Amino acid sequence: MMNRVPNWIDGRPQPAARGCEMPVVDPATGEQVAMLAASGAEDVAEAQTAAGRAFPAWSARRAPERAELLERLAGLVERDLDRLARLESVDSGKPLALARSVDIPRAAANLRFFAEAVRAWKPDEELRTANSQSLVLRRPAGVAGCISPWNLPLYLFTWKIAPALAAGCTVVAKPSEETPMTAAALGELSAEAGFPAGVLNVVQGRGADAGAAIVADPGIPVITFTGGTATGARIMQVAGPMFKRVALELGGKNPTVVFGDADFDAAVAGAVRAGFQNQGQICLCGSRVLVERGTYARFRDAFVERVRALRVGDPMEAGTDQGSLVSQAHRAKVAAAVERARAEGGRVLCGGGPPEPASLPARVRGGAFWMPTVVEGLPMGCATNQEEIFGPVVTVAPFDGEDEAVALANHSRYGLAANVWTRDHARGLRMAERLDFGIVWINAWLLRDLRVPFGGTKQSGVGREGGDEALRFFTEPKAVTW
Ligand code: NAD
Repeated sequence: MMNRVPNWIDGRPQPAARGCEMPVVDPATGEQVAMLAASGAEDVAEAQTAAGRAFPAWSARRAPERAELLERLAGLVERDLDRLARLESVDSGKPLALARSVDIPRAAANLRFFAEAVRAWKPDEELRTANSQSLVLRRPAGVAGCISPWNLPLYLFTWKIAPALAAGCTVVAKPSEETPMTAAALGELSAEAGFPAGVLNVVQGRGADAGAAIVADPGIPVITFTGGTATGARIMQVAGPMFKRVALELGGKNPTVVFGDADFDAAVAGAVRAGFQNQGQICLCGSRVLVERGTYARFRDAFVERVRALRVGDPMEAGTDQGSLVSQAHRAKVAAAVERARAEGGRVLCGGGPPEPASLPARVRGGAFWMPTVVEGLPMGCATNQEEIFGPVVTVAPFDGEDEAVALANHSRYGLAANVWTRDHARGLRMAERLDFGIVWINAWLLRDLRVPFGGTKQSGVGREGGDEALRFFTEPKAVTW
């Protein structure tokens, strides 16, 4: 483990300019594992200066050269899989097995994907009319600010920095202060991979200090943010009048829609995974399970049985399905949400509180655990079904027919992702057409092709990540006509 987690600025580790630090806590044990640089505007300014200095040479490199460095970095992430997975698990409380099989491999995959994508990408276009000829030139937009959340730390961090670096931007990035360690490790690995100093800078610290300073820095014209909707709104208020280019990936309250004709076992397994992977702390989690009435009772019972069987325990132990929530503060929010569900008249079918201490190994009895919770009997308009909980809490409700399924699913101010379970593919496509979400899965959840646009409608965000959309985002077009 690291004892101190510094910034990574201009190719070297640096403490916060003012020397401020904050503790990093393993939420599964409650123990402090490191001290984190608690950076502010001075550190961001230094990182911006380094990134600005590195920009001309980096943006002038040919795409295949940038791609090669990204691939080398991916190789180092794969080499250090065990170490990085451990850091991720200790930082976030997620099962080590999940970090090993999903978070870290996908982080490497992001780096490899954008390396390949930029090799194949033709940023410039040539257009003709009868009396004109044009060139559309796309050039790297400058220093990019990349701000990411705690739930999939390295995975979402690389999902931003990989396209930015591939497209030729230099980067000032800030991971969440809850989960800083893998981003710090990536900064070091970038030097080993051969990235020149200043190309990737990692500024650590609180959102209100380091994050806000990135958004407000006039030398950072591009901001990509993943996090909560309220934070996204604050970022817009600052970046809007500065006319920055902003992409926001925000919250979700996603429906899992199960029709009577679905493959029953696959739908139950899919709904459990969608509801509870990473303790329900994934923006894409299906937290409102809607089931066609004829199948409802059977589905609910099977679903609850499967949820009860999830093993809550030490994230370091193989066989643990559910680790700790990210912090005690977050657990308190989840507890309040479950209290509210009860007050709204919801029936708690399983979970509903923390595990019995005796059911946990002694090492993790001080952890921020919560039993996977299923609630029934709530109308779609109530707060439990409208507010993002971002924890292991799922509601179940019946519907009659496609029209009602669409109405209930779309009854949300969010529009990130929906998943639909049916054997009738035409129905799946019909539903996809009518569901007001940026992402719709049919008989699947979190099935990713990194080329497709990723992002949400309504209060789930602005803009799309993934594939060429992401590369375009980090470039500025210029029209040249003669
Ligand atoms: P958050 O908004 O609290 O923080 C996200 C990041 O923003 C952190 O790095 C934080 O330090 C920083 N930040 C906080 N205040 C800031 C400010 N004023 N200016 C600049 N930066 C600031 O979110 P979180 O609690 O870390 O993550 C959970 C949220 O993220 C959930 O709402 C979840 O749905 C959302 N999320 C969305 C996606 C997506 O792709 N749509 C993916 C993962 C998580």
